[in-house]
Amino acid sequence: MKELGIDMEEIRRRMSFVGLSKEEIQLLSGMEAFALGHADRIVAAFYQHLLAFKETRALLKDQPTVDRLLASQKEYLLEIFSGRFDKAYFERRLQTGAVHHRIGLAPKLYISTYSFYENILSRLIAAAYEHEPDRGMRRDLAVRKIFRIDMVLALEFYFHSYFLEMKTRLDENIKEMDDFTRMVSHDLKEPLRGIEAFSSFLLEDYTALLDEKGKRYLNFLKESAVRMKELIHDLLTLVSLSRKGPNLENVDLDALLTEVKHDLEFSIQQRKAKVQWTPHLPTLYCDRIQVGEVFKNLLSNAIKFNTKTSPSVEIAVREEKAFYTFSFKDDGIGIDPRYIAQIFRPFERLHPQDEFEGTGVGLAICKKIIEGYGGKIWIESKEGEGSTFFFTLPKRPKQRGNDHA
Ligand code: ADP
Repeated sequence: MKELGIDMEEIRRRMSFVGLSKEEIQLLSGMEAFALGHADRIVAAFYQHLLAFKETRALLKDQPTVDRLLASQKEYLLEIFSGRFDKAYFERRLQTGAVHHRIGLAPKLYISTYSFYENILSRLIAAAYEHEPDRGMRRDLAVRKIFRIDMVLALEFYFHSYFLEMKTRLDENIKEMDDFTRMVSHDLKEPLRGIEAFSSFLLEDYTALLDEKGKRYLNFLKESAVRMKELIHDLLTLVSLSRKGPNLENVDLDALLTEVKHDLEFSIQQRKAKVQWTPHLPTLYCDRIQVGEVFKNLLSNAIKFNTKTSPSVEIAVREEKAFYTFSFKDDGIGIDPRYIAQIFRPFERLHPQDEFEGTGVGLAICKKIIEGYGGKIWIESKEGEGSTFFFTLPKRPKQRGNDHA
């Protein structure tokens, strides 16, 4: 129950929602003798019912399975009419969902099974209370109400198990894809190094033999190899994010941003950029390399995608209850709102290389890092009027269950 965040308080709420009163529970507990008298027959009829349909028949693989199923059904019937609806009872209902998922009993079949029980019990209760139809009806209703609660619990756990299985499969697929990308990228690096090195040798040692056109072609070849190397490097950074779990520690973000600014000093000076931030950014429990990467990408973009003689970047942070919202505001070229979703996808760029250099992976890396922490990243921008990138980081990063480290 803990796994789904269900406690007895929640169960009581559900009981009152379906209108199952204490009095009705007492009515059920007074029916132990009725249950003992009919349980075997009901379970036998239930077995015949399962045999009658191809889908359910297929689940009755062997005698031990059948024996287990019939024993558990009998136990369930006796439990209902004992009226002991305690924590252990509801744990068992959730477990039913786990078993259904394991054996492949789809909800459509399982729900129909309940209507089979309801029909058969209705008839038996009506016969038992033939002379007191009112009392019989109240018991019949009570059974239906507890069935509703039990059915929903089993369904919830069924879908919970289903979700976990899908998530495991998805994680495996992602890991396979990442492994493949890493392998291919590593293999590509080797021939690229050769192309870059030999075009450099040609340019240095055979320059006299080349005319201007030849030199231009060779330079172009070398630059293409360098660019390809950058693309591979960024691609590897992107995929390695899902392999390595974050290295969490308390990080002074003020000091981290100062460090990042220092690393970008060359372009800051070259572009005469003014970078300012709210003093005292918080200390946060995070991976300093990953958050440093986010800062670096956003800050370098804010300077790069700016045609002003002296770009200005303002970084701020707002504290919320469970997280911080950071913003990187620039007075650069801005983005046409139509392309906003696109820029967070790997290798998506809005400008040609000769206008603004880059690989188009920086924001995809930021998104992956931030979402890995359970945060969000978004942008507000107007073309020609600058952009503000916002992102949130929780004070306590979410537990990551899919690290492949
Ligand atoms: P890169 O900077 O290598 O092109 P990014 O993934 O960092 O790759 O950015 C993707 C695209 O988003 C950029 O090519 C650019 O078109 C746009 N972009 C990113 N940051 C800004 C910004 N601050 N102002 C305007 N456009 C931006």
